[in-house]
Amino acid sequence: MPFLFVGHGSPQNIVENNSITQTWKKLAPELGNPKAILIISAHWLSEKLLVHAAKTPKIIYDFYGFPEELYSYHYSAQGDPELAQTIVQKLPECSIDHEWGLDHGAWVPMAHIYPKGNVPMLQLSIPRHWTFEQYVKLGEKLRYLREQNILIVGSGNIVHNLSLINWKLKIGAYDWAEPFDRKVIDSVLKKDVNTLLTLPTSSREGKLSVPTTEHYIPLLILCGLFDENDQTKVFNQVYQLGSLSMTSFLIRQTSPT
Ligand code: ZN
Repeated sequence: MPFLFVGHGSPQNIVENNSITQTWKKLAPELGNPKAILIISAHWLSEKLLVHAAKTPKIIYDFYGFPEELYSYHYSAQGDPELAQTIVQKLPECSIDHEWGLDHGAWVPMAHIYPKGNVPMLQLSIPRHWTFEQYVKLGEKLRYLREQNILIVGSGNIVHNLSLINWKLKIGAYDWAEPFDRKVIDSVLKKDVNTLLTLPTSSREGKLSVPTTEHYIPLLILCGLFDENDQTKVFNQVYQLGSLSMTSFLIRQTSPT
């Protein structure tokens, strides 16, 4: 199976028709035919590693101060309690969760990619106190799921600095945001995990782009899934509100020739 890093950006994307959402709408045929989707979203941080096991995960409207239509938007998808059980059996550090559901980092892109919610979805949490290296190792332990037809999705943003958002810059980036984003793209294309581990802290651009790590961590977890035959397609390389990048990656095996 391929795997996917999706830049989710503002919850406003749920109701917008823009280049980002148009790309999401065309994405499903490129994702194979997954049996289920395991989503790691920037918005579920926990003390310990958890996997959500509801038959029908609830949709969480975890955003504030947005127009009413976002809160009345209806989306539903099935969960996969059996898959949650198998994950826990293989990963002793992981426990079953019955509280969460699908937060907006998970369901906003999925409502465009799979509008019918016809592929089971479940979320895996981000343990908040782990090191960057531990996140990559977690990805390595999830790699076997690719062979079981499970689509693994990381949902965050490479550049994500809410305190510096410029509402006048609907499309456009600060001078530090695009260079950082490009370095990350370059490292993903080279599968250079060591550089990805240090980029957020090794420069001014990194510190401004990743002031808090939760939107970057899903990408680090995905780094553990890399296989030498994978190729990366970069899409939605768009900068919004100055300090958000929507850059996304679809990583998949090269087709045999
Ligand atoms: Zn977010």
